[in-house]
Amino acid sequence: MTTIPALLLSALAMTLIVGVRYLIVSGAFAFATNRRNPALYRGLRPQMRREIGWSLASAAIYGMPAGLLAWGWAHRGWTRVYTDIHAHPLWWWPVSVLLCLFAHDSWFYWTHRWMHTPRLFHAAHAVHHASRPPTAWAAMSFHPWESITGAVVIPALVLVVPMHWTALACVLTIMTLMGVTNHMGWEIFPRRLVEGPAGRWLITASHHQRHHEQYRCNYGLYFRVWDRLCGTDRGLGRFDEATDGQA
Ligand SMILES: [Zn+2]
Ligand SMILES: [Zn+2]
Repeated sequence: MTTIPALLLSALAMTLIVGVRYLIVSGAFAFATNRRNPALYRGLRPQMRREIGWSLASAAIYGMPAGLLAWGWAHRGWTRVYTDIHAHPLWWWPVSVLLCLFAHDSWFYWTHRWMHTPRLFHAAHAVHHASRPPTAWAAMSFHPWESITGAVVIPALVLVVPMHWTALACVLTIMTLMGVTNHMGWEIFPRRLVEGPAGRWLITASHHQRHHEQYRCNYGLYFRVWDRLCGTDRGLGRFDEATDGQA
């Protein structure tokens, strides 16, 4: 197959993978939320429809650079993704995962903070904050401008950071699960963890909830490091006890 149709096919395949992954994971957590507390998403159907629409558009934007890289990996030897686990020392596996998460978190923190400046907020980020309160479907509910900033991160990282394919799969799984659970409207992790020493550095729904309530704080994605260093961490939000059955 010539290059252009092969590239288009690869982008289409990646769009489908990202879109279907979103529908399955967000759908599963939305279902779990409904079982746990049927009142939590009551009255939010029009909002959830918008969240799904923006998220599927984001899937196409994420699919394009991912498709390009997947094609380049298969046909041109691009990317530092490796398949032989012994190509690098075994300790590199967890280090590469942490490095990738920290790099993604740093990119997210600064671009997110930038998108909270008034002009950019209206042009790029207001769509995400139109979810009030966000639901499990809001995980990829971004304006296309914002999606572009998110879509380039992992493709850029795999060009420079050597990663075993299972380490990359681990990063993508964490990215997907945290994106969904952070917007779900309730805390999935035990309070002992969220309010304990690990929770002082890790971001879960309780932390991101406060970002959606107060806007100009808690900008991070996985870690509270940048928020703490830059004085933008305002601690953990609490979920509405009236609507959250187990709060
Ligand atoms: Zn959010
Ligand atoms: Zn924001």
